[in-house]
Amino acid sequence: MLKVASDFALALTVTLGVLLIWRLNDQITYILWLFALPPAAFFTFGTRRASVALGLLLIALLLSPFVSPAAMSPETFSLSYFVRVIAAFFTLSLFSALGEYSRAHTQRTLVALTREMEQCACTDPLTGLLNRRGIYDRLNEERARATRSGSTFSVILCDVDHFKNVNDCFGHQCGDHVLHQLAEHFRRSVRGQDVVCRWGGEEFLFILPETDEQGALNLAEKLRSTVEQTPVNYHGMPIDITLSLGVQECTLTESPEFHIRVADQKLYIAKEHGRNKVVSGNIEELMPQELIA
Ligand code: GH3
Ligand code: MG
Ligand code: MG
Repeated sequence: MLKVASDFALALTVTLGVLLIWRLNDQITYILWLFALPPAAFFTFGTRRASVALGLLLIALLLSPFVSPAAMSPETFSLSYFVRVIAAFFTLSLFSALGEYSRAHTQRTLVALTREMEQCACTDPLTGLLNRRGIYDRLNEERARATRSGSTFSVILCDVDHFKNVNDCFGHQCGDHVLHQLAEHFRRSVRGQDVVCRWGGEEFLFILPETDEQGALNLAEKLRSTVEQTPVNYHGMPIDITLSLGVQECTLTESPEFHIRVADQKLYIAKEHGRNKVVSGNIEELMPQELIA
């Protein structure tokens, strides 16, 4: 619709411009209107379309002495004046084009930069995963999608066991390397629609669309056992890692924040029961009532 309106306005501008030049060639006022056209055309139609329109006008302007009866009269036609009008019109058009091109280029750069900054603000630099800032948007999106489709989704909260020992024994750089490798492994282990986020220091949150608690439990168990069986290689040194995980299916009656709190309570139970464990199921049966959020 906007394109049709813009095309119409463009055609009208060219037609009026041509009529202005051909019919009113003997009146000095057409020049005032002529010089208003380049900035208005570039502002309204953009660089390419305005260039075409003004190009057509320039051709009409060049032809006008040969076509317009008024222009043929020796009293009204002055070649030097005509050449100056053409030169001024051309120069103004050129500067208007440069101005519009530069404005459009700056706008495109700003939009790209803003997108990049938004992405940086939501990305954890160490692992390249979504950080906590970006998680809530995804959770709310997933909740809205589940509401529309009537499907369910689950979350897994995962914490590296005794991670402080890794830093203490092998150094902080080794700790960073382990987190990076784990993130890579998590990314490779989930489906395309699943989201892995860095929830905090050595904690990761998985958002699993269209997955019930049993499906999430299967994934959590697979992650736990593969990480346990595959030490992380740090400069030829095998670093043994284990994970504790809490699994929670998200009902639509409660907020995502509530479900993450419950997943965290299950994670706490996994830690209490010796770590390297997955805990799922009904929290009321797993925990004393007074400790439930
Ligand atoms: P638990 O099994 O109870 O979870 O023990 P833990 O040692 O893993 O937990 P704790 O909360 O005591 O320690 C977490 C450690 O994770 C401490 C912190 O220095 C480390 N850590 C957090 N973020 C990073 C990071 O980005 N890089 C490195 N190298 N270490 C981190
Ligand atoms: Mg922790
Ligand atoms: Mg830990």
